Amino acid sequence: MTSVWWIRRDARLADNPALLAAQEDGPAAAVFAWSRGVHLWSGRRRAHLARVLWSLREDTGGAIGVRQGEAEDVVLAVAREHDARVVFAAREASPAGVRAQEAVAAALEADGRELRLVGTPYAVAPGRVVKGDGTEYKVFTPFSHAWREHGWPAPAERADPAGLAPVDSDIDLDQEAAHGDADDLLVERHEFRESRVLDAWDEYVGGDLARYAEERDRPDLDSTSHLSAPLAYGQIHPRTVLAATARVRGDAARKLESELAWRDFHADVLFRHPHAQHESLTAVMPEDAWVTGRDADEAFMAWRDGRTGFPLVDAGMRQLAATGTMHNRVRMVVASFLVKDLHQPWQRGADYFRRALLDYDHAQNQLNWQWVAGTGRDAAPFFRVFNPSAQADRYDPDRRYVERWVAEVDTPTYPAPMVDHATERAVALADLKRGKATRASS
Ligand code: FAD
Repeated sequence: MTSVWWIRRDARLADNPALLAAQEDGPAAAVFAWSRGVHLWSGRRRAHLARVLWSLREDTGGAIGVRQGEAEDVVLAVAREHDARVVFAAREASPAGVRAQEAVAAALEADGRELRLVGTPYAVAPGRVVKGDGTEYKVFTPFSHAWREHGWPAPAERADPAGLAPVDSDIDLDQEAAHGDADDLLVERHEFRESRVLDAWDEYVGGDLARYAEERDRPDLDSTSHLSAPLAYGQIHPRTVLAATARVRGDAARKLESELAWRDFHADVLFRHPHAQHESLTAVMPEDAWVTGRDADEAFMAWRDGRTGFPLVDAGMRQLAATGTMHNRVRMVVASFLVKDLHQPWQRGADYFRRALLDYDHAQNQLNWQWVAGTGRDAAPFFRVFNPSAQADRYDPDRRYVERWVAEVDTPTYPAPMVDHATERAVALADLKRGKATRASS
């Protein structure tokens, strides 16, 4: 009997419980729904998705289908064409992911069919790590201890691509993939094929991982894992990553595991508090603290285009525009600059990141922005304002990162700083104090 594998953020054959379940009783028909939302992404991000799906199609002998439309229509159509009673998919925890799976489940049920959710894109499913009394952890460190204690199963065996029935596509992946530049810097950086992702990860474990604990904050040294995009599209499961780090002794492997715990923590927070996708979990600032109008728009554009006159901020924003990625330390600096120096709400920056980042992951992006803005769970306190110049001196001491992205940094064409950091920091802190006083009196 044929089942359907609804491909979501799990574009892989290895360690994929939903796919294995779909293949249990016979061939599976696999489909990805290229929904309206995808058209709002940057061309580069869409091209990246197309390349990932193109690679999966290659690896399955052309079997997987990629179809234009909302998931409930696409998945139902494929289930009918293949006379499949059951559709298998990984369970999503983000508000949009949950909405899509509810819509698919309802459409299937109305047609006498069923959606079964198997596995998640996380080491531990959101909602599972709880305190002794069954409530959620609000602080990261105890969450991460309980997360380790909870543990996760060993990676599942690799699925057999021969067990997939061919499904027609109506999206031209070659054409979509061409939206990114052909000689994109990313072609080297982000490996599209699942096998290359796994090989690159193996190579990392045997090589640069050793330097991770000391160098992960250095954008000039580039010694992080580059796993975020493969994790976002599901070309590798975090369990596979954790199975490899478990075999490595020392601080570096433990540190990387802890970053994956942050990934699960943020997914857990968003699962429990879906409104956190748009609203601050803690309102630290008075609403009138945010600037609006034409000046705010111009300042936002200077930030977005890397013309602030602060070299580390400009380098990060230019790296993002040119490649669709940015080093974590620099993400924190640019986010802090937008919120605390330019007094713009975190949601505005998060929205630009959504369109531009190749590794975009709703929970990680929104809650990292909230972390920097001081409004999230276990966030950096608002009064911690990153000084963009001091951060540059500390984490890019030879200016290699800045010079790579802001070639004109030492020439007269480079703009003067658009604001005085000390002044804007004082404004932000005064607003914070006002916010506290208002909350206390209300
Ligand atoms: P490594 O340092 O090698 O870390 C290994 C893995 O751990 C990463 O791939 C990622 O899955 C996870 N990880 C690392 N840091 C974090 C973190 N702070 N929070 C959660 N997980 C983490 N990450 C995304 O995957 N998608 C996003 O949309 C995203 N938006 C961000 C927005 C802001 C404002 C900030 C400050 C951070 C954001 N991050 C996001 C987290 C982090 O910047 C990236 O995961 C990291 O830069 C990816 O590089 P890497 O894979 O080489 O990371």
